[in-house]
Amino acid sequence: MTHTVGVLGATGAVGQRFVQLIERTPAFEIGAVTASPDSVGKRYHEAAKWRLDTEIPEAVGELTVRETAPEALPDDLDLLFSSLPSSVAANVESALCEAGYVVSSNSSNDRLAPDVPLTIPEINPEHLGLIEVQREERGWDGALVKNPNCSTITMVPTLSALTQFGVESVQVSTLQAVSGAGYSGVTSMEIIDNAVPHIGGEEDKMETESRKLLGSFDGGELTRLDADVAASCNRIPTLDGHLENVFVSLADDPTAAEVREAMANVPSGDLPSSPETLVHVFGEDAPERPQPRMDRNRGGGMTVSAGGVTATETGVKYNCLAHNTIRGAAGASLLNGELLATEGWI
Ligand code: NAP
Repeated sequence: MTHTVGVLGATGAVGQRFVQLIERTPAFEIGAVTASPDSVGKRYHEAAKWRLDTEIPEAVGELTVRETAPEALPDDLDLLFSSLPSSVAANVESALCEAGYVVSSNSSNDRLAPDVPLTIPEINPEHLGLIEVQREERGWDGALVKNPNCSTITMVPTLSALTQFGVESVQVSTLQAVSGAGYSGVTSMEIIDNAVPHIGGEEDKMETESRKLLGSFDGGELTRLDADVAASCNRIPTLDGHLENVFVSLADDPTAAEVREAMANVPSGDLPSSPETLVHVFGEDAPERPQPRMDRNRGGGMTVSAGGVTATETGVKYNCLAHNTIRGAAGASLLNGELLATEGWI
């Protein structure tokens, strides 16, 4: 069955990825696109300064960009994908859910709300059950589901492999690509020949979202993972792909080989856009991998790569990498949409 979907913020860095990925997914077809008031009324191909390595899908290119409001959207949309700035999404997404729409969103607002599922389908699909709680508390016919921040989602699949060894604390330092800031986020004067050791709000997102994702849900309430997480986030002049250096203190004392095996064994999903392998692990013979240019497109951009796994006195250290606008944003939200469809929420 094909579901008709809308894309909110369809002209942006993540919105364009949505359009590209949804075009390749038989489960969904795009029936509406929205953007800011500057773009409303233009054809999508005129409004979107397309920056991807494919052509704009023809049918979508001809759609007229709509206002981002419930009254401007057609009633027959089964699902909305949202890549709005969080300041805009904070009001609009609630209004849409109240109007009955199911929204799979990238934006950071409400990710930590106790009744909003923050989901990576391969890691915590059971958290989708929070929709029942949300509908009861908010009186919505629709629903709001979030995927995590791009830097969080890069690290969490590897951390999920380590919970069997007792994760006590996590320190992570990131090297994040410029596309993570959106199309108007970082100017060339700021980033060429430079690195910026601060990304506003990003550290807090990694520290809190990771504990929610790895927490347990008892059908009514969600309890976050009981571990300290400390992050340091840095912007570097790569285009796509966030690289992260992770240091984990563990209760047990696994060898590097045992950690590599645990990461490689994290199961991928069976959704239409699931990659064959969720975590690709490089061995001792390739300590220089993963690298953004070489590894960000692994599994169509949906696979996380890990390498440099080394046992330490307190646990393990390693590096991991994911494509920030695919696995870290549009692809993650698309997978959540496929999970919503598979589980009958739309
Ligand atoms: P972006 O490139 O700046 O795109 C923003 C989109 O929102 C554009 O389509 C823009 O339309 C639209 N928009 C702006 N103001 C609006 C308004 N007042 N009403 C309706 N639409 C409006 O940003 P992005 O990088 O795609 O990020 C989008 C969201 O995803 C953000 O919440 C971001 O935090 C999150 N996210 C991004 C990444 C990433 O790697 N980039 C990863 C994870 C999550 P116009 O073209 O008309 O201005």
